[in-house]
Amino acid sequence: TPDVRPLVAGNWKMNGTRASLDQVKAIAEGVNSPLAKKVESLICPPATLLYVATALCTDSPLAIGAQDCHQSPSGAHTGDISAEMIADCFGTYVIVGHSERRTDHAETDHLVRAKAEAAFAADLTAIICIGETADQRKAGQTLDILKRQLSASVPDTATPENTVIAYEPVWAIGTGLTPTVQDVEKAHSFMRSELVARFGANGEKVRILYGGSVKPGNAKELMGVANVDGALIGGASLKASDFLAIYGAYE
Ligand code: PEP
Repeated sequence: TPDVRPLVAGNWKMNGTRASLDQVKAIAEGVNSPLAKKVESLICPPATLLYVATALCTDSPLAIGAQDCHQSPSGAHTGDISAEMIADCFGTYVIVGHSERRTDHAETDHLVRAKAEAAFAADLTAIICIGETADQRKAGQTLDILKRQLSASVPDTATPENTVIAYEPVWAIGTGLTPTVQDVEKAHSFMRSELVARFGANGEKVRILYGGSVKPGNAKELMGVANVDGALIGGASLKASDFLAIYGAYE
């Protein structure tokens, strides 16, 4: 998309111990290059590593974010973390509505929207995840699902600064399967037109990431598709060399 700075983001999910901070360090060093002017980078480690990870990035353009937040700023919510807490650890992004959260914790579009609003209130950028399941795809419902999730999960106050959309077909996550370039192009151009219809000129500039089995071997092709403004990477973001190879697809 013209005039947007692509974002290459890693989601570590429930993986990573203190030993994995070596990978954060290697990524922070690897993205400290002239390419950083053109392409943004982000790692979302588990919450246990958030604060230490940000401390490793003080001299690097690598951003650090969290994988989820509660919709409230504080309170009696045992086990949850708030957007404020993420910001307090110098995190700048938070993923909300990942399909694993929607499935494991029965998160609805309504809740995802409230979480995104909580992120905005703490000055975080929300990466709002959407995507169809295999059954929905087989039933030909992909664009209907994307339309519904975009309209219900994305707050009215979304801007290109506080919001990134991640399109992650659920059947492509962690499976090694990816949609065809034509399918990615169709989905992304549909999401773009939905965003422009709702947000006008701002909708032109909201980044739309592709996620689902992005690897060094397919990154260049996927990142080259119109309206694909970067990647959300699961498995391949755990190894610095793989993440940096994907980031380098923009060279
Ligand atoms: C993800 O869960 O955000 C993801 C895209 O996972 P993977 O890259 O492993 O398919």
